[in-house]
Amino acid sequence: MTVSGMPPYDDNNIFARILRGEIPAKKVREDEWSLAFHDINPQAPTHVLVIPKGRYCSFADFSATASADEIAGFIRAVGTVARMLGLEAPGYRILANMGDHGGQEVPHLHIHLFAGRSLGRMIPGP
Ligand code: AMP
Repeated sequence: MTVSGMPPYDDNNIFARILRGEIPAKKVREDEWSLAFHDINPQAPTHVLVIPKGRYCSFADFSATASADEIAGFIRAVGTVARMLGLEAPGYRILANMGDHGGQEVPHLHIHLFAGRSLGRMIPGP
């Protein structure tokens, strides 16, 4: 089921629960600003999610209301995870679904990091 991606933030969403340690996740990297972990239902050989630690519903919410430090820390973390996993030479794709038409299902901002094969067209046809 898709979500609007707009506030108010739901503290019981699954990624909030992962951040609180209530639900396990296969962690890749963690720092002050972000947590990266493997997607439970991978769509590519490598499919990692990177989330900010702050309470942001979506990219729309984060880009409008996060501090400059949070934005810099989070975006740097996405690039660092890709570098750490050795994905820069073969290449990778990042994607953030926002709201109903974006297909967002979890109402906490997450960047998908896909890699491990040639990923084809940007948006698959209907
Ligand atoms: P989105 O459609 O962009 O909101 O994507 C949500 C993603 O979260 C999907 O790719 C799910 O497979 C993934 N997901 C849902 N629950 C978990 C979980 N407990 N651990 C890891 N990934 C999850």
